[in-house]
Amino acid sequence: MSDFFATQHAMIAMDHVGYVHNRLDRDTEHRTEDSLQEMMVQNGSRYFVLHGDKVLLSQRGTRYNALVCERRAKEVGGLMDRIILLGTDPAERNAPRLAIPLSDDAAAALEDDKEYELWSLRAIGTKGLLPADQLGALAQARSLLHWHETHQFCAQCGAKTAIALAGARRDCPTCSAQHFPRTDPVVIMLAIHKAEDGIERCLLGHHTRSETPMYSTLAGFMEQGETLEAAVRREIYEESGIEIKAVRYAGSQPWPFPSSLMLGCYAEAVSSDIYIDEAELSDARWFTKNEVREMISRGTDSDLPHVPHRFSIAAWLIQGWLDEN
Ligand SMILES: [Zn+2]
Repeated sequence: MSDFFATQHAMIAMDHVGYVHNRLDRDTEHRTEDSLQEMMVQNGSRYFVLHGDKVLLSQRGTRYNALVCERRAKEVGGLMDRIILLGTDPAERNAPRLAIPLSDDAAAALEDDKEYELWSLRAIGTKGLLPADQLGALAQARSLLHWHETHQFCAQCGAKTAIALAGARRDCPTCSAQHFPRTDPVVIMLAIHKAEDGIERCLLGHHTRSETPMYSTLAGFMEQGETLEAAVRREIYEESGIEIKAVRYAGSQPWPFPSSLMLGCYAEAVSSDIYIDEAELSDARWFTKNEVREMISRGTDSDLPHVPHRFSIAAWLIQGWLDEN
């Protein structure tokens, strides 16, 4: 490995960032119409059961488990005609991992269940209830199940479409159109300004929709025909009036609410006067490294200004800047 990639590799370690680790082998390119049935009957095949962004968990002592067998998936009210294949697990003798949604009634019935409980995927991540590499598979399950649920009709002719390739596609039986799951790219970036005094500061904003005094990186959806760099410059300018020169991509995070991909960047600010977009932000300020360190030390439950949980790529971008020499 050259020095360049060694440095990059050290920089991009994302141990605490949620949903980035997924060890499943999806093998989408080799799937056939029979793949789902073949995988369901294989030894060791197990299911993640989801209802919206909630996941079915059982608890034994301090350990949580998210995988159930087919019989259990049926018993708790899983919708058997909506099963999708996520992939096979190389760490478990290539056992298939599938996902199945619950009906609303089945989810409601679980409220009194002694063995199973529905947990939000966010809480599972921030509380660390499951191994990090299962979070990535659950993010995949959440996004894909949501896409199937909201894309049941053909966008070309309106006919009812059917699950194809074990969930990797939907096909229209009337006009033969093939529909593929979508991922929505979002730019999320830390703008950094080096003032005339030689001190670097980063730009963090407080969002109008945030109920806590949390200051975070700016972010926004990419638009069609836009480069990553242009989206970073546009979003920062729209939200804060700050002008950006260089943009550097740093790392990404799947964000399955429902199907975003957060593209994390650093942005070099060449102006410093802030003009906030009041529809998006209630405040935005420049913070020194020491100020940010103090915000981190307060924790995410603090009533004083603080930064996002280390589970988020926003926190990872901030930490990457603090760790920089
Ligand atoms: Zn059609």
